[in-house]
Amino acid sequence: MTSEDRKAALDAIASEVRVCRRCRLSEQRTQAVPGEGHPDTEVMFVGEGPGQNEDRLGRPFVGAAGSLLEELLAMVGWRREDVFITNVVKCRPPGNRDPEADEMAACAPFLRRQLEVLDPALVVTLGRFSLQTFMPGDTISRVHGTTRPIDPASGARAATGYAMYHPAAALRQAALRETMQRDMAAIPETLMRARDGRATLPEAAVVATEPAPGAVLTGASSSSAPPAGATITAASDSRVIAPAISSIMPTSTAESTTDMNATIPDDQLGLF
Ligand code: URA
Repeated sequence: MTSEDRKAALDAIASEVRVCRRCRLSEQRTQAVPGEGHPDTEVMFVGEGPGQNEDRLGRPFVGAAGSLLEELLAMVGWRREDVFITNVVKCRPPGNRDPEADEMAACAPFLRRQLEVLDPALVVTLGRFSLQTFMPGDTISRVHGTTRPIDPASGARAATGYAMYHPAAALRQAALRETMQRDMAAIPETLMRARDGRATLPEAAVVATEPAPGAVLTGASSSSAPPAGATITAASDSRVIAPAISSIMPTSTAESTTDMNATIPDDQLGLF
């Protein structure tokens, strides 16, 4: 896929998201929030769902949590435009309540198609609902700052998952800010390792549109998608690697990738 192909495919998904009526979240939204970012990026950040500011502006992570995310990205020399940022559900749950299972299922095909198009090397989960989507059964206090392989049934052909707290959690609980800084600092090196793991795999040009049996992400399939069983074919990829990794931290700062000893239980973190 060329960069233009990827951009066109992402735009097509976004257009469908903006008029989607697959679940009750569409009834109270101001705008749907499809997600945004660099069509050539290797890194996707997946949050939970739009909040009030995102609902108003139609863009992900533009409120206080977004400012913190941008601040964290800047620590490793990246801007939000260098990565792709989206959410598990694309419409705001009223009052910022948790998204419900059927809402996540209804929205899942959009995320799956974004993953198929972007074919990221690294998927960074932000918060509990994103973690559960990609790494079911794990708890964030145990696995933040660590990696897991992502099930290709998610749409991500050959990606590494990397768990982080949700930025909003750090806004509520100041101690988590440092944890998030450590976890973010390890991302460039984690991306390098994720790249290594993909080096021997063929690249995908056209992606399947129906989830494989046992897919992690489930829900209605898109009406405008290519037919079920569309082939995954090898093709040359004109991807310009983004974001640049000029910011590899000394190895010592990457120690949080093995930190399994965080002490804050999830149940004290509410949503996160
Ligand atoms: N929280 C999220 O999970 N996503 C957003 O886009 C904004 C806040």
